[in-house]
Amino acid sequence: MSLIFVDLMSFSSDTTPLVDRFGRTIDYLRVSITDRCDFRCVYCMSEEMTFLPRAQVLTLEELGFIAKAFTELGVKKIRITGGEPLLRKGVLKLLQEIGEIKALDELVITTNASKLEEMAVAIKEAGVKRVNISLDTLDSEKFKQMTRTGDLNKVLKGIQSAKKAGFDGIKINAVILKNRNHREVIDLVQYAVDNQIDISFIEEMPLGIIAGHDRAEAYYSSDLIRSDISRKFELTAVPDKTGGPSVYYKVKDSQTRVGFISPHSANFCSNCNRVRLTVEGRLLLCLGNEHSVDLKKIIRSNPGNMEKLKENIIKAMQIKPEKHEFNLQEKPVILRYMSATGG
Ligand code: SAM
Ligand code: SF4
Repeated sequence: MSLIFVDLMSFSSDTTPLVDRFGRTIDYLRVSITDRCDFRCVYCMSEEMTFLPRAQVLTLEELGFIAKAFTELGVKKIRITGGEPLLRKGVLKLLQEIGEIKALDELVITTNASKLEEMAVAIKEAGVKRVNISLDTLDSEKFKQMTRTGDLNKVLKGIQSAKKAGFDGIKINAVILKNRNHREVIDLVQYAVDNQIDISFIEEMPLGIIAGHDRAEAYYSSDLIRSDISRKFELTAVPDKTGGPSVYYKVKDSQTRVGFISPHSANFCSNCNRVRLTVEGRLLLCLGNEHSVDLKKIIRSNPGNMEKLKENIIKAMQIKPEKHEFNLQEKPVILRYMSATGG
């Protein structure tokens, strides 16, 4: 599929808040602040990656400016992600700037936790309310195989530092692959229960070409995961929402919620409330489609012009697709990796 850049002049201006053609209100922005990472998770990246040259990447000032525009248009929640967001130089300054925006209810971050031991307190002080941490296995050998470069011990220490820092919430994200880590789900839930934190299991999405495994063969559905967990834990469905696609269950006699993000087995697009900004400045209207608007071009050709930027963001809602169409049996249609997308 080729990139779809749209002539925004062909749409009539709409009023805020941000509402798309299907009546969905957009109040959640995910911002990728770098495409770089110190891990090479097998489902996310290929082993050899080429990262973006600096000139193509939004500056911290540009990222802050765009974030502010979204909050002025009704966005209440911003997630900082990547790549690995804690690797971006100046990340604390950016977090602080966004954290101070009065109109924003929640600033949250997704991290692989490799830098969390040193940075947890500073992130909390900068205004981050909740942290999502990727952790697919508690076995250090398997962890090395799945991340290719990661050190499990550092990640576990990072989680403990996050607990001490006192965030409003900590959630583990685990991507489950058949015959790689599908036998780990009970241990992961036990870890979440012991640490009084939440956990979400994610079905792998076909973003970018990877060589390590066949995604169709590695597919392990949320239903299978839930049934595995039920062998040891009693799960009760709860209506809780954290503004994302997770469907939650409570683990009996614990504080832990177990979430399921099921892009294949339970499409969540009808309730989609989010858009993504890549570090190149592309506003992606859908994770599983290429519909986008080049916000970098707009802000670089109209420096400091907040109204122009907001006008273009409002118009962009008109090209938000109805849903993603992932097909694990075919070659990925979306060639950008999750790390370049802002997961
Ligand atoms: N580096 C940070 C981390 O790993 O938490 C943030 C960026 S990472 C791209 C965000 C989330 O996307 C992680 O929880 C990761 O497990 C998930 N992810 C990456 N590739 C994926 C894929 N192909 N399918 C589903 N989830 C994926
Ligand atoms: Fe890096 Fe996160 Fe992708 Fe793993 S999932 S390679 S930690 S960006």
